[in-house]
Amino acid sequence: MNKVSSNAIQAQGYYSVSAHWKAIFSRPARKVPLDAGFTCPNRDGTVSSGGCSFCNANGSGTGLHSAMSLTQQWDHWRERRRAVWGDVALVGYLQAFSNTHGPVSRLRGVLEELATIPDLDGLCLGTRPDCLDQEKIQLLADFPARELWLELGLQSSNPATLARVNRGHGSECFARSAEMAAGMGLKVLAHVMAGLPGETPADWDETVRFVNALPVAGIKFHNLFVAEHTPLANDYRAGLVQPPTLEDYAAWVGRSLSALRPDIVVHRLAADPAQGELVAPAWAGDKRAVHNAIMAEIRRGGIRQGVAWSVSA
Ligand code: SF4
Repeated sequence: MNKVSSNAIQAQGYYSVSAHWKAIFSRPARKVPLDAGFTCPNRDGTVSSGGCSFCNANGSGTGLHSAMSLTQQWDHWRERRRAVWGDVALVGYLQAFSNTHGPVSRLRGVLEELATIPDLDGLCLGTRPDCLDQEKIQLLADFPARELWLELGLQSSNPATLARVNRGHGSECFARSAEMAAGMGLKVLAHVMAGLPGETPADWDETVRFVNALPVAGIKFHNLFVAEHTPLANDYRAGLVQPPTLEDYAAWVGRSLSALRPDIVVHRLAADPAQGELVAPAWAGDKRAVHNAIMAEIRRGGIRQGVAWSVSA
């Protein structure tokens, strides 16, 4: 644990990405969404055509790729960020779908264009662990940015859960890719989801233990929510699935923070549904209330990240 993480944990209970980036950039940072127009192998038939059962077919994209180049998207969002936040560091975020899917030449083209943007201070790239090889990881590792994060979807370490939600890859695939990427110098971030169908709180605890044991440098916690036009929405309407309550979710996050390695940067405490997609639970649409509930849980329990973590756990 370094001084930055230790101070952040003392101040707010966990090592937040805002504290991390303030130390790196000497000022606050904001993300800039970038949509490079990639697809997902779990949707385009490479792995499956159904997608993960909880995933909206928009894949969290802005959809701007069809109208604007990446540089134009950057200019578009930068103006808005600067107007609201002033002189902040700007971190590009390739979020939509799987941004290493397809031939390596495609990824190379994207990174070459991004490398020409002078005020891009950092880059986060989201993908699936089964869309990576050594050549793609090396391309990423060579990208000239002060902060470079590879965001990999895991969701759960339980193979039965991954099969149930049609994830299309196993946890061993995540472990392999995380180890390869971290070994080549990338900061690896794991996406995990609480309340997946059929899971118990013990499964969630096990997923956090699984992440702790890998060379993972960051984590995003997500609560399961039901999005419109997904297989999960059909199951929810048929009464087969029930998303967690806010009270349960806040308690689970609190417990996970206690168990989480103290050097892992927490990039997100809860999911953030896109406008118009949320079916249930209603609380998932109230970002401030969710944040407040988690912070209240942290205060109530005197929670400090890593306090229940041990090397042998
Ligand atoms: S959650 Fe990610 S991996 Fe799953 S279908 Fe959606 S874009 Fe693909």
